[in-house]
Amino acid sequence: MADRYLSFTGTAPGRFLTRRLGLPRPTALKRFSPERPVLDGGLLHLTAGPSALDPAPVLARAGLGEDTTGRPAAVVLDASGIRDVAGLAGVHAALHPVVRSVADSGRVVLLGAPPDAADHHQAAAQQALEGFTRSLGKEIGRGRTVNLVRLTDAAAAESTLRFLLSPRSAYVSGQVIEVGDHETAAPGDWNRPLAGRTALVTGAARGIGEAVAETLARDGATVVVLDVPQAEHDARRVAERLGGTALPLDITSAGAGARIAEALPDGLDVLVHNAGITRDRRLVNMPADRWSPVLDVNLASVLRTTDALLAAGALKRGGRIVATASIAGIAGNAGQTNYAASKAGIIGLVRSLAPRALDGHGVTVNAVAPGFIETRMTAAVPLLIREAGRRMNSLAQGGLPADVAETIAWLAHPASGAVNGQVVRVCGQSLLGA
Ligand code: NAD
Repeated sequence: MADRYLSFTGTAPGRFLTRRLGLPRPTALKRFSPERPVLDGGLLHLTAGPSALDPAPVLARAGLGEDTTGRPAAVVLDASGIRDVAGLAGVHAALHPVVRSVADSGRVVLLGAPPDAADHHQAAAQQALEGFTRSLGKEIGRGRTVNLVRLTDAAAAESTLRFLLSPRSAYVSGQVIEVGDHETAAPGDWNRPLAGRTALVTGAARGIGEAVAETLARDGATVVVLDVPQAEHDARRVAERLGGTALPLDITSAGAGARIAEALPDGLDVLVHNAGITRDRRLVNMPADRWSPVLDVNLASVLRTTDALLAAGALKRGGRIVATASIAGIAGNAGQTNYAASKAGIIGLVRSLAPRALDGHGVTVNAVAPGFIETRMTAAVPLLIREAGRRMNSLAQGGLPADVAETIAWLAHPASGAVNGQVVRVCGQSLLGA
């Protein structure tokens, strides 16, 4: 379902009317395309206070030029050395003069340090950056995004910084991402980082899953398109187009994990749990037969297949698991007690398993939490609720399946080994649960 309002606000009468009536004024986002792989414009690198990081070499490789025009496409503020409240004045001093000039669809990325449990002054100052980031994200407008990366080692965060400073992260804003210092390998080719790797995506016959399969294939992966047997025709169509294979399988069926392991005798590098269903109704009206399937597809089968694949050693060292949560699992949503419970459960799974999978198997486990994404699922939502869902975020528009797919591709990246246990919302900074 096309976003006609967004197209209208791009016209002269649309601009006039929305300004006069005080209506939301979304900016058409600049997304990744092979013709436009990097942001148009320069990078401004600022520092607030002393810093032990040296992000300059990594930033130089992100593909932006140095800003010479005074209208940067991206501003990176290194605030990682701030240890007290007085130091926060440096954040204001650095960004106040430049924030107005950031180009449309541009990026502001703050670099912070993990809050120090042994130093409450440092912890207060670093936590303050979170409130700052989320507030600036809400006020900056014009398709611009603001995110905070907490890191101790710039090299370990290279894939993350490249992602946030590129058109691939168009719909990711107001996020706080922690990057550890786990050693991580740079790919031979940043344009095809998944070359030689195998990725399985559940629910990939259509919607977000199809876009994920497409994006991982673009990045070089051989994809396995898993979907229910009823969707086999579509799954085969997607697999053929991407040079992969289809796996018709209901993930709730007994032994689904073993079937996947059998279908992949050489093992698996990337496992994307994307399949999901809704059966909405308020709890008072919800019979058990609307509750159980949602918990089973969205959560129990994710736990079962993950356990089976880890136990069978099917996930290779350096493997990546990415599960799909939802902002409903963070904020809750009327009519979705079952769905929100299942998606919150995904977050619990990710946080608990991530450290153990990394130490035991060298595998990272992360989640994406999409907001309003333009798919068949959301096209079926009644008009008024759909319009509210689309506009109630800092970018005043819905996301596209490609936005979720790009975020998953970053988490699946071989150089993202230090990104573990994260739940990254792809929601244009939705007001729900923000
Ligand atoms: P969709 O309904 O378009 O696609 C889901 C796919 O999963 C379908 O192809 C379906 O056949 C498959 N599937 C369902 N049950 C399955 C099973 N038992 N075994 C194998 N495959 C199964 O949905 P979508 O909008 O593309 O959503 C994809 C994921 O993103 C879901 O987990 C959904 O909860 C989540 N999500 C979507 C949105 C959104 O706005 N669209 C927002 C937040 C989260």
